[in-house]
Amino acid sequence: MGQKRIAIFGSTGSIGTQALDVIAANPDLFSAEILTAQSNDVLLIEQALKFNPNTVVIGDERKYAAVKEGLKHTDIKVFAGEKAIHEVASLDCYDMMLAAIVGYAGLKPTLRAIELGKAIALANKETLVVAGDIIMRKAMEKRIPIIPVDSEHSAIFQCLVGEGRNKIEKIILTASGGPFLGKKPNFLVNVKKDHALQHPNWSMGAKITIDSATLMNKGLEMIEAKWLFNLNYDQIQVMVHPQSIIHSMVQFEDGSIKAQMGMPDMKLPIQYALAFPNRIPNDFPRYDFKKPGTLTFEEPDIKTFRNLALAMEAMRQGGNMPCILNAANEIAVYAFLRNRIGFLDMTEVVEQTMQKIPFLETPTLEEYFETDGEARNFAASLIHM
Ligand code: NAD
Ligand code: MG
Repeated sequence: MGQKRIAIFGSTGSIGTQALDVIAANPDLFSAEILTAQSNDVLLIEQALKFNPNTVVIGDERKYAAVKEGLKHTDIKVFAGEKAIHEVASLDCYDMMLAAIVGYAGLKPTLRAIELGKAIALANKETLVVAGDIIMRKAMEKRIPIIPVDSEHSAIFQCLVGEGRNKIEKIILTASGGPFLGKKPNFLVNVKKDHALQHPNWSMGAKITIDSATLMNKGLEMIEAKWLFNLNYDQIQVMVHPQSIIHSMVQFEDGSIKAQMGMPDMKLPIQYALAFPNRIPNDFPRYDFKKPGTLTFEEPDIKTFRNLALAMEAMRQGGNMPCILNAANEIAVYAFLRNRIGFLDMTEVVEQTMQKIPFLETPTLEEYFETDGEARNFAASLIHM
């Protein structure tokens, strides 16, 4: 087996840097050929000098000169700007894209890679939330695999290996519950960003950490699972499992349940997606059954964590509703991170935007883009009031 050439879109993020750790540990198996980042020029230069990719792109055009200067003694191609991030997805120099940009911004380059028949390791869940029908249809047409990196979806994917046409009765998506498990609205109303950014089990980028605290992350993951595994609304159950050892489960038609377990460490699902269908040895920490501990499960409190209820509703309605939910949520989360709105206000922004933006049952790709823009503008107008 030759080296698999990887393009990391979002190389400076939490997923991107951990993926580079996996690549560095397995130089015979993988090379990094494209690295893209939005604004962290210093880290991008450092990564490029270490991995010697074919191409790097910095999203923020003001940083172009700095990146060019930092790589002047190399033959690495340097580009800048949002358009360049989309365009380098068309290059021949890679086999698999690791889609690790955060948010809606990850959609267009991923779509481009799918259209060119590249394999996809998908971390960017928002891509499937916004336009899952189109993404999955195009992937099917091109016969390319979309291998999930999200730990829950990697778990389900792993449980399905070897099952052929055996039907899924339902999946059980596990949720850690986040830092505010068991808390009520009278507590949540006063939560500030520093507290919300402290996740008990996972260390992740800021946006997904806030989504984990509000349980929106689990809602986005339900929609992601629906598209990845072709499930109906009522086949997806969420259970809070605070220890994050069981990463998710599949229940088959005979009632048998398969679970995938391990320590909460994103390097494992990243490595699995890059190396699929192979498993490769590593020295990541192992779960020890001899250590005292219990695995517990409880139902999520969707009356308190209403974002999860809103995401379920968006999934039930379908059409452009998940796209509206996602756009409003991105605006709300960034406003919360800038201390512009409170923790519970995020839900208000999402709910009001879902009520306001016209529903489309079977949007085209263009209509998804338009919906995203309209929903963002409306959500932002609520915050600036
Ligand atoms: P992060 O914020 O740490 O990193 C995001 C990356 O995307 C950075 O490299 C950044 O430069 C780039 N980026 C940000 N905005 C951009 C834009 N507008 N255009 C182009 N590039 C942009 O995020 P993360 O935690 O690594 O998450 C990445 C994705 O993976 C998210 O969709 C998230 O939901 C998903 N995911 C993350 C984890 C995790 O453990 N971090 C787990 C499961 C899924
Ligand atoms: Mg997850």
